[in-house]
Amino acid sequence: MYASCLCGQVKLVIKTAFISSSICHCQQCQKSHGAASAAYGVALKSEVEWLSGKKRVRKFASSERVRRGFCKDCGTNIYFYHKDHPNHLDIPLAILDTKPNLTPQCHIFVDSKVGWDPILDDLPQHAQSC
Ligand SMILES: [Zn+2]
Ligand SMILES: [Zn+2]
Repeated sequence: MYASCLCGQVKLVIKTAFISSSICHCQQCQKSHGAASAAYGVALKSEVEWLSGKKRVRKFASSERVRRGFCKDCGTNIYFYHKDHPNHLDIPLAILDTKPNLTPQCHIFVDSKVGWDPILDDLPQHAQSC
């Protein structure tokens, strides 16, 4: 699967299928994405290949164990990384240029879901993480 940022300078390929996929409703994803929620695919870090622009990716420590990578020029969120899962890189599905092999399987952190964007699917909902 191919992914890129809004300005097109950061490009990457995820060489193998996502392990899992979820929609996160935590407040940090809300603020970081400027959206009610953010859908991610969990990739093996070793299977993510940077095609261009890796040096344009800045890291933000949104909490002690979390790093969020974003394009320094256009602000697009490129990845979510948690130190508890050092082999994983969570890629926002919305930056993919090709179809994901998986669509989201569940909602997480629905405890902090916004009130103005109801969940209209039948996927399992978890108060915190899965
Ligand atoms: Zn960019
Ligand atoms: Zn989140």
